[in-house]
Amino acid sequence: MPPLEPLLTARQLNEFVYCPRLFYYETVEGLFTHNADTVEGQSAHKRVNASESGLPAASASNPTGDPTEEIIHARSVSLFSESMGLTAKLDLVEVGSTTLRPVEYKKGAPQEGENGITLWPSDKIQLGLQILLLRENGFTCDEGVLYYRATRQRVPFVLDASTEGWIREQVQEARKTTQGPIPAPLDHSRKCPRCSLVGICLPDETQSLCEGEALDRRFAHQLDFDLPAEPLAPPADRINWGPFAELPEIRIVPPKAGSDVRRLIAPNPETKALYLNTPGHYVGKKGGEVTVSEEGKVIQSFRLHELHHVALFGPVQLSTAVVQTLCEKDIPITYFSMGGWFYGMTRGHSLKNVFTRIEQFRHAADRDLALLPARLFAYGKIRNQRTMLMRNHIQPPEAAIRLLKHLAAASLCATSTGELLGIEGNAAWVYFTEFAGMLKCNPDAGPNGTSWPFFSGERNRRPPRDPVNALLSLTYSLLAKDCTLACYAAGFDPYIGFLHQPRFGRPALALDLMEEFRPIIADSVVITLLNNDMLKPSDFLHAGESVSLSPAGRKSVFLTYEKRMNDLLTHPVFGYKVCYRRAIELQARMLGKYLTEEIEQYVPLTTR
Ligand code: SF4
Repeated sequence: MPPLEPLLTARQLNEFVYCPRLFYYETVEGLFTHNADTVEGQSAHKRVNASESGLPAASASNPTGDPTEEIIHARSVSLFSESMGLTAKLDLVEVGSTTLRPVEYKKGAPQEGENGITLWPSDKIQLGLQILLLRENGFTCDEGVLYYRATRQRVPFVLDASTEGWIREQVQEARKTTQGPIPAPLDHSRKCPRCSLVGICLPDETQSLCEGEALDRRFAHQLDFDLPAEPLAPPADRINWGPFAELPEIRIVPPKAGSDVRRLIAPNPETKALYLNTPGHYVGKKGGEVTVSEEGKVIQSFRLHELHHVALFGPVQLSTAVVQTLCEKDIPITYFSMGGWFYGMTRGHSLKNVFTRIEQFRHAADRDLALLPARLFAYGKIRNQRTMLMRNHIQPPEAAIRLLKHLAAASLCATSTGELLGIEGNAAWVYFTEFAGMLKCNPDAGPNGTSWPFFSGERNRRPPRDPVNALLSLTYSLLAKDCTLACYAAGFDPYIGFLHQPRFGRPALALDLMEEFRPIIADSVVITLLNNDMLKPSDFLHAGESVSLSPAGRKSVFLTYEKRMNDLLTHPVFGYKVCYRRAIELQARMLGKYLTEEIEQYVPLTTR
């Protein structure tokens, strides 16, 4: 026997007619988010469905033609038809002496056109299917009513043969759509700004990266220049940086990107991160609030709907009730050591987008495919390191800047992940050799007259051995946390990467994604903290060779980091303003669209 097809609901068909892509997201990928419109619609339906009552058997409830009979109102009636593969929950069925009709409630207004007031096509199919389901269940029914709350209008609807034919065609089309691929976004439609999935769908952004001369997936192989014969390892003598032949500038942004892209998402998320950093604090829940207590006394409380995530450093205790509530509300909890090591996280069951993960695993398992996005992560990071030096160095070092440009171009031509990691490592060496030039304090003497070396002139970690490295390690940990959250939001497994190889406990994809953001977020926070005297010598703790931050020092870092994450930048590809936190999420979502072949090219975010 062939397997039964899953039942579609009349509500899903309503979505299919409104937008096939919305239908695909909700039906196939199981994605759903609320916005003001859906919350309002949901509460209106809750009121209608509050008094559920069954529909009498068909034989007893078909119209009798007796005008003395009373009208029966059956609410929240569930019907299904195996032969049609459809199901529906009807808000109301009115059974009168001469008619039986479903009444569907909608919060908006009807369509007004040349033929007067009519139903929207999406409402027409929903009501039409309800009529067909009533017929399938033995009732005599030819008409229905759509009640639009905004205008308080009852708009009648009669199901004629041609509309029935159209409805049946749409059902067929919707079934085909469930087999994939995902339908293209609507073209600059007025529906999109009101769509609850606009932040996931990104219709204009997706279109802009499909239009025009998108770069070929394997474009780097087509570049008509050769790598210079000299080894790329940085020479010990910096004067020798000059002889590298400069590779040409490679434009990653497709020419049409940004044109005509509407900003349909808010530039900043409305929620905020909660950092808790004091050992012994206890996090609980009271009503709709998260409370923080010290020695049994509540010292602060936060509304649940205001929280983006909760980050805990060191031994901060949590109640089971708050963990359950945060999981239910899809607010992740992240855990760090006092030194800032990112241990892991707790979150609810909201990992959907199974097709994104299938493509992620397929690309990660194929070296050639994995190399394509890996090159772009490395390229983005090196370009942004170069920009940081050009922007912040007291005397921008020409040779280093030229070499970073060369290494960025070389990263696009790497033929293996090993080679790419070598290029990226060399670029990091060049960048950190010049990093001290971006600091206003004397790195040899330390800030405010401290006598210990403030920066050794190179990147060191596990443990960091100077204050600059302690700050870099902490800000990289915070960024890894935010990139891990963005990976989950986009439906990825953060532990399978392309540039970074899988290793126990390492969020490899989050580390890939964070490459392009390291210089412009984490390094920028460190430079801001130091150049604005926002830290005191007492904010650094020394134990043997290692240096870490005190709770007060960490608090300054958290505040400056969060401020940076909320800073707005003009998105270099889409041309609108977004904050850095949103920009990371956009990159994660665009990576998903690249892997599922919705867009031609993942474009790393580089600033000027
Ligand atoms: S944002 Fe527009 S294209 Fe995307 S699912 Fe919603 S209505 Fe469809």
